[in-house]
Amino acid sequence: MNSAHYQALEGIVGNTRISQKPDDLQIYGKDWTKSTPRPSAVVFPKTTEEVSAILKFCNTNKIKIVPSGGRTGLAGAANASNDELVISLEKMDRILGIDPINMSITAEAGAIVETLQKAAKDRGLFYPVDLAAKGSCQLGGNIATNAGGLKLIRYGGTRENVLGLEVVLIDGTVLDLNYDLRKNNIGYDLKHLFIASEGTLGIVTKATMKLVNLPKDLRLTCMACPDFESVTKLLGLINLRGIAPTAFEFFTQQCMDLVLKHQKHRINPFQEKSPIYTLLEFEKQPEGAVDPMESFLEEAFERGLITDAVIATNSTEFQNLWGFRENISESVAIEGNVRKNDISLPISSLPVFIAEMEKVLSQIKGVQMFLFGHIGDGNLHLNYVGDFKQDYAEFRALTRDTELGVFKLVQKHRGSISAEHGIGVLKKADLHFCCSEEQLELLKRIKLAFDPQNLLNPGKIFDL
Ligand SMILES: Cc1cc2nc3c(=O)[nH]c(=O)nc-3n(C[C@H](O)[C@H](O)[C@H](O)COP(=O)(O)OP(=O)(O)OC[C@H]3O[C@@H](n4cnc5c(N)ncnc54)[C@H](O)[C@@H]3O)c2cc1C
Repeated sequence: MNSAHYQALEGIVGNTRISQKPDDLQIYGKDWTKSTPRPSAVVFPKTTEEVSAILKFCNTNKIKIVPSGGRTGLAGAANASNDELVISLEKMDRILGIDPINMSITAEAGAIVETLQKAAKDRGLFYPVDLAAKGSCQLGGNIATNAGGLKLIRYGGTRENVLGLEVVLIDGTVLDLNYDLRKNNIGYDLKHLFIASEGTLGIVTKATMKLVNLPKDLRLTCMACPDFESVTKLLGLINLRGIAPTAFEFFTQQCMDLVLKHQKHRINPFQEKSPIYTLLEFEKQPEGAVDPMESFLEEAFERGLITDAVIATNSTEFQNLWGFRENISESVAIEGNVRKNDISLPISSLPVFIAEMEKVLSQIKGVQMFLFGHIGDGNLHLNYVGDFKQDYAEFRALTRDTELGVFKLVQKHRGSISAEHGIGVLKKADLHFCCSEEQLELLKRIKLAFDPQNLLNPGKIFDL
């Protein structure tokens, strides 16, 4: 970008909402992943009209763009390292309304997810997309990555909760998609193309999302399981006993120890160590019905699926138990260099897959492994952690063979190498494990139909 371009953009947003300060370029030029930010500038639009004018200008002047949300992405999709203009949505963060009749909330794309949750709760309603990054990630970022999260098992992920989208295309055209309708059968559904598109097809400026009733009387238990097979059998038992989980998560003993190491205030509720722990959260239903917790735990014990269990009896215990699961990513990030695999499998294939995966993982040396995830959705997070002192390239070389071994197994079992974090730049080379040549070709044609000059987040998901 040259100085004339900069001045023209200043003309659109004013000189206080565009920056080339080194600190801003560092902060807004990357997400959570390791990378060297090198954007040309950062611009902070406040309205859809400004976004439209910026994109139109960039299209005319062939300026590459990286849309930026809360920068909590784990695939490098918001990284700008090739002189791109970063468009940060953080100043478009207003909640525009809650509609209890349509059971929906409308907000600008830069609204922080936790703010959405709070606004819904204040009206006695619930915004069900929930993830540990909720305090920083934005609605637009969640849409662009189709964030899954902790409650997907019950309420679906971001995709299932989008009712309406406002999107700006590279030529400045503003699309108002689906009018917040619950039913709208008019052929191809364009809004779905933008969900999970990682900012490569357009910029989301506004969205209307579904709300549900606030869950009442949530019950939470943390169960110690002897092995992975028990975890999947436990899920079968949950289904057979008519328990509708609002979350079913797992983490290993190594994860629990790591969280305890980095969060001294957290209380370990178990006397004995166990290979795996699961968190089961559900709503006691219907109102006034017998709590199924005790009979369920008794049966799980009798069947040998669990060896110990604790039940949260108050909000402090509730938060303490959830804290073990929600603070793993942050603890891992403090511990050392990290490489993450975010894979999903057909749920019933998990016992066989995990047995084969454990053999592959047992080969790796000099790297700590932390496994956790949304097991109820078939989603496993594998975190390879090496010493900070080690050169990052060396660390990656150590993990690569194992990672490829895991991806081959994923392919064999018809799984995905990206359950919920997206492809970004980090997983581009591995997309072929779950996406055929023919599929990829169609994706590229869609991209070029929306963005013929390849200006919107170029080099993300795939190269053209
Ligand atoms: C501690 C932690 C826990 C996490 N847990 C989960 C989890 O449980 N489930 C899960 O799915 N993810 C999880 N993530 C990953 C991350 O939070 C999600 O991918 C999230 O959706 C990213 O949102 P963001 O606003 O931070 O987007 P960013 O990281 O800023 O951007 C992500 C992508 O979206 C694009 N983008 C951003 N805003 C827009 C917009 N308005 N229009 C068009 N494109 C846009 C960017 O260009 C980029 O391609 C976690 C991350 C952390 C750090």
